[in-house]
Amino acid sequence: MKTRTRVVVIGGGIAGCSTLYHLTQEGWTDVVLVERNELTSGTTWHSAAQVTNFGMTQTMVGLKSHSIKLYQELAADPDYPINYHHGDGGIRLANTPEQMQGYRHFASMARGMGVEYEILDPAECARRHPLITTDRLLGGLWDGMDGDIDPAQLCQALARRARNAGAEVYRNTPVTALTQHKDNTWRYCRKVLGSLVSPNM
Ligand SMILES: Cc1cc2nc3c(=O)[nH]c(=O)nc-3n(C[C@H](O)[C@H](O)[C@H](O)COP(=O)(O)OP(=O)(O)OC[C@H]3O[C@@H](n4cnc5c(N)ncnc54)[C@H](O)[C@@H]3O)c2cc1C
Repeated sequence: MKTRTRVVVIGGGIAGCSTLYHLTQEGWTDVVLVERNELTSGTTWHSAAQVTNFGMTQTMVGLKSHSIKLYQELAADPDYPINYHHGDGGIRLANTPEQMQGYRHFASMARGMGVEYEILDPAECARRHPLITTDRLLGGLWDGMDGDIDPAQLCQALARRARNAGAEVYRNTPVTALTQHKDNTWRYCRKVLGSLVSPNM
């Protein structure tokens, strides 16, 4: 196990695995992930697992577009395919004029980024999803890129690619303390096995 590394990512849920993967994509390969249990043993494995393109800011729409492209690529990897139901579509419902106004605003903003949402009237909402009741419904926003993915497989796929790029993953290794030094390096202590120093945590 390394005793010095550029970055230590603590926790092997989606946040940690995605961070580790994206660091390697930026060329940071002297990086490790430390997980106290097994990868995706936290809240990630039982998440609702919805993957949407919807966001209320350009940053969120951009991040989600990036995720959708990445997940499509991971799902299509013949060496480690994962379950991703892409593009099933989903509706966000509105029962106040303010919600509808917001949806029109978000649709217009996203269109400028090349992302298309559709504004639906109540009848079209019911046509696309027959279980919807239209009482007091003013309309909805259709996100055609909506889908779902297996979050546990997703973490494993990201960790696998990070490992292939040079990162290391230590499972069953709880971090028990963090200390920042004056030179901005960090020391973290893990149970039983000692400690690591990371300058960039
Ligand atoms: C594909 C996907 C779809 C999602 N869809 C939805 C959705 O539709 N709606 C919704 O509300 N949310 C959704 N989520 C979010 C989800 O519910 C969780 O909020 C999210 O997965 C949390 O991820 P995390 O990495 O922050 O935490 P966790 O998965 O909990 O990971 C934290 C990890 O840190 C480890 N850890 C903790 N302490 C230590 C320590 N001291 N030392 C070492 N390791 C430690 C834990 O064991 C754990 O594995 C989705 C997530 C994904 C991945």
